[in-house]
Amino acid sequence: GKGTVVITGASSGLGLATAKALAESGKWHIIMACRDFLKAEKAAKSVGMAKENYTIMHLDLASLESVRQFVDNFKRSGRPLDVLVCNAAVYQPTAREPSFTAEGFELSVGTNHLGHFLLSRLLLDEMKQSDYPSKRLIIVGSITGNTNTLAGNVPPKANLGDLRGLQGGLNGLNSSPMIDGADFDGAKAYKDSKVCNMLTMQEFHRRYHEDTGITFASLYPGCIATTGLFREHIPLFRLLFPPFQKFITKGYVSEEEAGKRLAQVVSDPSLTKSGVYWSWNKASASFENQLSQEASDADKARKVWEISEKLVDSL
Ligand code: NDP
Repeated sequence: GKGTVVITGASSGLGLATAKALAESGKWHIIMACRDFLKAEKAAKSVGMAKENYTIMHLDLASLESVRQFVDNFKRSGRPLDVLVCNAAVYQPTAREPSFTAEGFELSVGTNHLGHFLLSRLLLDEMKQSDYPSKRLIIVGSITGNTNTLAGNVPPKANLGDLRGLQGGLNGLNSSPMIDGADFDGAKAYKDSKVCNMLTMQEFHRRYHEDTGITFASLYPGCIATTGLFREHIPLFRLLFPPFQKFITKGYVSEEEAGKRLAQVVSDPSLTKSGVYWSWNKASASFENQLSQEASDADKARKVWEISEKLVDSL
């Protein structure tokens, strides 16, 4: 039969392109885990996904209550869980003030990291019960983790520091909204959240790969300069960013190509190695990429895990 894959944020950009690619393969039933049901339905129709290939289920990662509700709903659906793709993200590069999730965490780290952290820990038990031969848990990373690239070195650079802000709950009241305890910076908060995503993937690998056989992976699909991720950027940036990526950095990939790449990490029989951060070269061939020092720091990964566990489990 078909495998079942949950994709968060499948209503636009990379998530939608991946859902489309997997639907077209005929091998997958896609659970589109989205915060806006109508938008997701329109999106699925707009790319021509056949009704029998997908189900939309409500998930707002900016609410831990919603994450728990999603997991309950999924369990009740009676489907096995074979692959989970943590893809959704918010990016607020021009915000001057922080905004917050339902539980009061700074929005970028709260959504991109803490929401997915709770979701994937709760769904791990579901995955353990599936007898699918190649189970995978994928967390979409970013170039922020590559210090061997130009884009990975553009300021403000990611830096989790000594985690004092995370420890304090990222609430902007008695703690800084930033993981490292500094003043709010929306672009940096996004990059920090992506470093947490990549650290989480590696910590999952260390804790669970041997016992469960599940493949844990992250990836940088390339710069998809046309997605909604840049919706909050200034208009001049949105005008110039795609051609800049196409012609200057040459890191540009179309949404369709990026979707095929993530679909490979979901489904390709040759990409089963666990603990890997995948990237693609200019000929669109996948390779195991190196992560930056901070994004591969095992001690930091364990600390981020333990603090995050306290934050999400206490609520
Ligand atoms: P988009 O903005 O197009 O897609 C983001 C998705 O996340 C949307 O479906 C959005 O939902 C969803 N989302 C946002 N907040 C929530 C929430 N609270 N609950 C549930 N879903 C939510 O961006 P991309 O496709 O570019 O981004 C997808 C992933 O790719 C991200 O992890 C990003 O970090 C990563 N990435 C992107 C790159 C790029 O160049 N674009 C490069 C490297 C990595 P809605 O449709 O309702 O807004």
